Amino acid sequence: MKKRLFIPGPVDVAPDVLARMATPMIGHRTNDASVLQKSIHDKMQKLLYTENRIMLSTSSGSGFMEGAIRSCTRKRAAVFSVGAFGNRWFKMAEANGVPADKFEVEWGTPTTPAQVEEVLATGKYDLITVTHNETSTGVMNPVEEIAEVMKKYPDVIWCLDAVSSAAGSKIEVDKLGVDVCITSTQKALGLPPGLAICSFSKKAYEATKEVKNRGLYFDMQEIYDTIDKKNHQYPSTPSLSHMYALDYQLDKIMLEGLDNRFNRHSEMAKYVRAWADKYFELQPEEKYASNTLTNVKNTREISVAALNKALGMRGMVVSNGYGKMKDVTFRIAHMAETTLPEIKNLLENIEDILGL
Ligand SMILES: *Cc1c(COP(=O)(O)O)cnc(C)c1O
Repeated sequence: MKKRLFIPGPVDVAPDVLARMATPMIGHRTNDASVLQKSIHDKMQKLLYTENRIMLSTSSGSGFMEGAIRSCTRKRAAVFSVGAFGNRWFKMAEANGVPADKFEVEWGTPTTPAQVEEVLATGKYDLITVTHNETSTGVMNPVEEIAEVMKKYPDVIWCLDAVSSAAGSKIEVDKLGVDVCITSTQKALGLPPGLAICSFSKKAYEATKEVKNRGLYFDMQEIYDTIDKKNHQYPSTPSLSHMYALDYQLDKIMLEGLDNRFNRHSEMAKYVRAWADKYFELQPEEKYASNTLTNVKNTREISVAALNKALGMRGMVVSNGYGKMKDVTFRIAHMAETTLPEIKNLLENIEDILGL
């Protein structure tokens, strides 16, 4: 049976969007390919509230996370981690020989502006990475407050992992001063996995010129330059199928209206949080709780596997806790095209199964 996915990616894809993946192929060096790239570029700029260049990569979001930290760290990177994906960014730095230090907090708590200030005041770092929405803990970091600190450090490059929040939560890239804002298709954007997307500032581009070993496939400078030199094309063959689907999905997102879309996500989030409070406990402090997924403390010590088995028979699935949080928490995603009635139905089924 097809299960309705309430997991934080991949998400269910609307049938008409999925159908766009079957668009007949074109050459990737044709004018049609340039027009497609440019169309996505302009719509993604609107979605991320930025004038910065939009770049795509045929990889999942991790590709651009690795590319950004490697291509833009001149001196040393400060990796702020609030969970599994922050830790992964640090591993990427290590694996690429990029000098970096990790500043990790207790899972379930955020990166605070005070922490960023303290770290940057040392003068040791010229790049920071922050996770906007930590999918392993359900924490959404206070990026507006962090942005205030960043204003004092205009030479520091700011990389933001917005993989599980972009298109589900408002991220005003230019207002925040984010240099590299990274997302991928299979979460709040509501597409199949396979494409990474980022906005990339001129400042980040200038930084790449001071970095010698940027690798090749994820060399952000090379991708940036090729968009100029080859009129909105890429160094290697991109997933044109994803690009067709993304271009179409962005039209649908604009038709829904950005504010409507973000409000729909926060309404679902509020509902799930209230439910979590009533029957279990919310893991992060309410103020830092994510708009796209809710991380519930398993205070009743239910078997998440058994719950999912029962839910599966009803055509639904939620997510267990991530990594070391397995069975300690469980996660309910409310992103992409998910609606409040679907969320209500899911929660009623969970109540029924657990006898709450
Ligand atoms: C899913 C996720 C990633 C990894 O993205 P991929 O597209 O799977 O590479 C990174 N960061 C966060 C916060 C995520 O949720």
